[in-house]
Formats: sequence, C-alpha cells, structure tokens
Amino acid sequence: MHGVTARERLEALGKLQGDTVAAKVDGRVYDLHTPIPEDAREIEPIRVNDPEALPIIRHSTAHVMADAVQRLFPGTKVAFGPAIDDGFYYDYDRPDGSFTEEDLEKITEVMLGIIEANTPFERKVLPYEEARRVLEELGEPYKLEHLERLKDEEISFYQHGKWVDLCEGPHVPSTGFLKAFKLTHRAGAYWRGDERNPMLQRIYGTAFPDAKALRAYLLQRQEAEKRDHRKLGKELGLIAFHPYAPASPFFLPRGAQVYNRLVEYIRDLYDEKAYQEVITPQIFDNALFHTSGHLPSYRENMFFAATVDGLEEASKALVKNPPKDEESCSHVLSEHLRFGVKPMNCPSHCLYFAMEKHSYRDLPLRIADFGRLHRYERSGVVQGLTRVRTFAQDDAHIFCTMEQVQGEIASFIDLVFRVYEDFGFTDTKVIVATRPDQRLGSDEVWDAAETALFDACKAKGIAFEVADGEGAFYGPKIEFHLKDAIGRSWQLGTIQCDFNLPERFDLHYVGADNERHRPVMLHRAILGSVERFFGVLVEHVAGAFPIWLAPEQLRLLTVSERFNDYAHEVAADLRKKGYRVDVDDSADKLGAKIRNARNLRIPLLGVVGEREVESRGLAIRSRDENADLGFKTLDEVEAILAPLSLPPSRRPA
Ligand SMILES: [Zn+2]
Ligand SMILES: [Zn+2]
Repeated sequence: MHGVTARERLEALGKLQGDTVAAKVDGRVYDLHTPIPEDAREIEPIRVNDPEALPIIRHSTAHVMADAVQRLFPGTKVAFGPAIDDGFYYDYDRPDGSFTEEDLEKITEVMLGIIEANTPFERKVLPYEEARRVLEELGEPYKLEHLERLKDEEISFYQHGKWVDLCEGPHVPSTGFLKAFKLTHRAGAYWRGDERNPMLQRIYGTAFPDAKALRAYLLQRQEAEKRDHRKLGKELGLIAFHPYAPASPFFLPRGAQVYNRLVEYIRDLYDEKAYQEVITPQIFDNALFHTSGHLPSYRENMFFAATVDGLEEASKALVKNPPKDEESCSHVLSEHLRFGVKPMNCPSHCLYFAMEKHSYRDLPLRIADFGRLHRYERSGVVQGLTRVRTFAQDDAHIFCTMEQVQGEIASFIDLVFRVYEDFGFTDTKVIVATRPDQRLGSDEVWDAAETALFDACKAKGIAFEVADGEGAFYGPKIEFHLKDAIGRSWQLGTIQCDFNLPERFDLHYVGADNERHRPVMLHRAILGSVERFFGVLVEHVAGAFPIWLAPEQLRLLTVSERFNDYAHEVAADLRKKGYRVDVDDSADKLGAKIRNARNLRIPLLGVVGEREVESRGLAIRSRDENADLGFKTLDEVEAILAPLSLPPSRRPA
C-alpha cells in the first residue's frame, strides 16, 4: 500500500522549497521519500539549515562514503553507519588491510564525484524474504544478521545510484544536498560494540549544510585537540594511567591538589547549605543490591568482591551439585561470592536513613557523600577521565516530603548556577525530563513531582526545555548542560526525584498526623563525577587553572643560587599561610625557569634577585594578564594572592 509521501503532501500544500530536506509531521521527522500517516495534522518542511536537517545530512553522507569505499575497495562489507552527535561514521569489514590517511583522501575524491552527480536517494520497502535475497546478492553478512532482528518491522532500503543499503532512513532528496563534509579519523570498533565480536574498521566524518559551518566546527575540533585533557593531563603532570588498573586514573600530586580543591570547594558549600556529610562503606553484602534493585538490573556494571572463604564455599557447592549449564554455575558463584562493590551511594544512604526513626521535623535531610564508586565500563567505551571505572561524585541525597520538593529544587538551582559561574561556565541549559511510558508510581505522585520541578524553575525565572518522556522510570529529573570555552556542551549536574528506592527500602517518617509517610528521595550532583568534571575543567581552562584551583599558585625563580635561601624562606612563610608556593632553585638560567613555569601554566611567578632580597619583595609576573607586574613587597604579594585564592563567590566584594 502506498500512502502519500511527505514530499507529495508538502507539494500539495505549496510548502516544498528547493532547500527542503525532510518534513516534521506532528512533531516527528519524515524524509521526503517516506509515506506519512493518513491522519497527519501538522506538516512543516525541514530546510537544510534547520537543526533537524543535520542528522539527515550526516547519515546521507555516511551512505555516500560507504558507496565510495565499496567502489575503491571491493570485497569490503558494511555494518552500521549512523549519524552521531558531531558527525557520522560507518563500520567496515575490509579483508585486505586497514584504511590509511591516503585512503581517506581517495574516498573523499570519489565521494565528491557522487555528490557532484546529484543522484536522487530512493526508498523501497520490501517483504522479509525479498529483503534477504537482496542482501544475500549483495553479500552483506552484517546486514543479513541485522535483518533477522527486523522480522516484525517494516523493512526499508535506500538507494542512490547503484548503491543500496538496508536502512530506516531518513535521507536527503539527492546527493547534491551534501555540500560540506570531511572524513576526520579512523578507529577500530567491535561489531555491535561487543569485544567478543570481530573488530571492524570505523571511519568517522562530519558534515554540515555549508562550508562555513564545517570550517567553524573543524576549528573547534582543532582547539579541542590542543586542550584534550589526556594530553594536558600528561604534560602538566596531573594524571596517569597504568595497564594494571584499566580505565582507572592515578591523580599525580599536582592533579590531586586540584582534585582536593574541587572537593573542598563543594564541601564548604555544604556547610553553608545544611548538608551533612557521611562516609559509607565500599563493599556490601549483595543483599543490599538485591533490595536496591541493582541486582539483577545493574549487575553488568558492577564489580563483585571475592574472598577466599567465599571461593571455597562456591567450590564446595559446585563439586557437590555440578551445575548443568553456565547459567546455574554463575548463579552458584554469585550466591557464594556474597559481596558487591558499590556503584552508587544511594543504597547505603537508604540504609543510613533507616537506621533511625524520623519525624517530619527532621526533614529535609540532606546527606552528602564523596564516596568512591566503581563501575565496570567495557574497555571499548572508556576514554581519559570522561568514562572511568573508579570515581567519586559530589553526591547527595535529600530525603523530604512532597511539599518540600519544590523548595529543595529551587535552592539546588541557585547552588548549581553559583558553582558553574565560579568555574567560569556562564552558558547553562536546563532540561526538565518528564514521565516515561514505563514508570513506577501513581499519576498523582508524578503530577505533583513534575509540577514541583516546573514551578521551581519558573520561580527561579530560568529558561528551561522540556524533554517529554525522558525522565527515569522512578521519577522526573532536571539536567544541567553547560557550554565550555570552545562551545562544546556537557551534561554535568542533575537532580532527580525518586519514588522507587524509598519504597524498596520501606523508608518512612512520622508526619504531623502521627502516621507513617514515605519520604521522597532526591538524588543530586552538581559536578557529577569529580573525575569527569576534572577533565571538562582542564579542557575548559586549557590547563590554566585559576589561582584558587591551581596546584602551584606561585613559583619563585631565583636569578642565582645566592638568592635561594631568601626564596625558600619566603616560600615557607607563604605556605604556612596556606598558599601553594614552590621554588625553582635549579641551576637553570632564568629564561629556562620562566619557560618551564609557563609550560606548567603556573599563574604567578616571582623572580628573586638582588633587589628583591634587599627590599624584601618579589618581581611578579602574571600568567593571566600576561604582564610584568613589577616589584611587589611581600605584603603586596599576599594582597594579590589572598582574594584570588578564594572561589569568586566567596571573595570579599
Ligand atoms: Zn541509511
Ligand atoms: Zn543517588
């Protein structure tokens, strides 16, 4: 049956323009090739420069790339080729070797030819068996494997010129719509992201509606490479990794300085905002994770802790009743290994809440925890500090009544904005995520919680977007996304309502009516993972930490060794006052000392020579003002350091 396509409908309405790539039909994106529902009410064109066009342009470019690859390297099989956040990729199984830089150039040439030809994309829907014949003829084993999962779905193919792909779209009308693309890099990738599967070769690229937008993006990317926290982390002596602890960072002394400053900074806010910090265990009996629901639904991301007696018990049980299959064997093992390493703090905070009776007068109870967490991330997805197996969060849980939710959210919003501004993030986007289809709790409870979230945002006068249906199954949430210095967006903070854990742990408080009531649990974090935030911050400031965070705030550089004693005396005195000061008393020339300090992005340098010793002062150079501030007495040096050693929101006005 052939319904009316988006193109036909737009044309009939007189809404089809030369730069229309797709249509938005009752809020959903359809490309021009695809039939739209007969009862469609609202239909609007999506034009090349609309944000919704970007993934369509990118995925279409991926098809063109795959076409070019198969022309140039016959025998290459294709896997998946989606649009992603900042571009697209396609995975290939190439039998005769790896793609080289030169190959990317050749592929680009052929792609330009395909685009030049402005070949239309065509969409075809085939019955399952016919679809299979097509893929068998094409000799595409990965597509065939994927097809098996589509048995009950509509199976569509897209073709431009002779190149055909099993694909659900959407695609631009013709290849001529692809005006600006670049193949950026290559990487290995497992089929379906699973390391037990064959390793494929992935080629990444990006595409934009025009060359100007592409240039701006490539410039940002270049800047991002310079700021990459993995690169800077090494150069600045902040972090390191060792193969014995995969995806688990070492914070070196300079890195640990900054890390501790971050934690201290948040901790100071807690004193102000009446949070109470707790320290909770690392390893728990798995009974806890049964109650919390992490077993079985989160077990793949957990580490389990074996003990010798646990292993012995498990061995005995296995010998006594040999299991019939892997599953029952694994069951016996997990029964006897007993302990799990906590992946989140929430379960232990529920235990803490339940340790004492609570009256409504105790609420809200704000429990903070910087506890170390471990999550088993597959090695394929970890990179630098952005996804690690061990980390801490600036985590806290607020137990409160439903009536208190709005007030707690409002004051959390204040806190988040203050923190981000202290770090120099001024562009923050707020997203409220509402009830998903699959959810826990009654509609009345969701109504109340969502209203509280919206009202809190409105009361604070902040702009927010709504992500309908994107809330967690256990409650709605607010996400805070911020833009860094080079315009990249990061999701850091979040506050989530949770009706689930209080239920699972049977938490309650005694209300004014003397009855038992369930508290609401709010999960909230501002930085999120401290490790990840550290990485984002390093890139945001390009390694040049502000003075209040810098591992070394001031370095004294002696012009000759005659002045070393004075320099050490001054440094010791300033350190006693809480400043982070070091001395470069090496035999290097002053020029080399300055270069080394600059490379480490140390904010203040104090040169020590004859005059400085005689007049008891330092010749100060500032990194931030890129200027020579001239001779300063020791008191003046302290007057510079003192306010800048505080986070901006704590400095005296
Ligand atoms: Zn496709
Ligand atoms: Zn939590």
